[in-house]
Amino acid sequence: MSSIRIFCDFDGTITKKDTLNTFLHLHAKNDWLRIEEQWKNGEIGSKECLSKQMNCIPDMTEEKLKDFLSGIEIDEYFPEFLEFVKENGIDFCILSDGFDFFIKNILEQNGINGIKIFSNNLILSGGKFKTDFPYGNNKCSASSGVCKCGIIKKYSTPQKTLFYIGDGFSDFCAVKSETADFVFAKGTLLEYCEKNKKRAIGFSDFSDITRFLQEYLIKIKGEENV
Ligand SMILES: [Mg+2]
Ligand SMILES: [Zn+2]
Repeated sequence: MSSIRIFCDFDGTITKKDTLNTFLHLHAKNDWLRIEEQWKNGEIGSKECLSKQMNCIPDMTEEKLKDFLSGIEIDEYFPEFLEFVKENGIDFCILSDGFDFFIKNILEQNGINGIKIFSNNLILSGGKFKTDFPYGNNKCSASSGVCKCGIIKKYSTPQKTLFYIGDGFSDFCAVKSETADFVFAKGTLLEYCEKNKKRAIGFSDFSDITRFLQEYLIKIKGEENV
């Protein structure tokens, strides 16, 4: 077992685009944009935003949904990264404020199974979506569906070095809590870190992170042998 634990965002981090936004653009009634504005202005939390937006989809079938998901691309270097993580016994889990159905299907299409996922739940029945938020946290300032800072705190132990990987707004509370020892950031999250003087390592794809981890593991092995 390695002493490293990695928490990783999904949308925009593992996938190239935000899956839910792409989906809403294609299938939702225009109201979803007004709701998006309310969320961006801080009038509502992402939990409320997500459940309202999923109500903007008039009718949906599992077939249509899977067809949409088959067009979603992931970072080319993510599978290699995962191999590396497994070979080295590193704990890895996905922390996403998106939906389990989306994440599981996208991973499966890429031959990826068996990853621990903390996310919101989505149920499709009778052409309508139902949402469920098992990882919400009323104490978190972000009012997210999945409170990332809460999960990281819960699963942090002094024996583990924690890595966090993310790209956007849903990762702010995780970084703000300063629980992770290393933060890999791109996009809006990297800007946020720079602006708020939070330590972060910039990355453009998962090959950067694999390389960093390779060097890190060599370094800590060297230190153990001294
Ligand atoms: Mg993201
Ligand atoms: Zn939080």
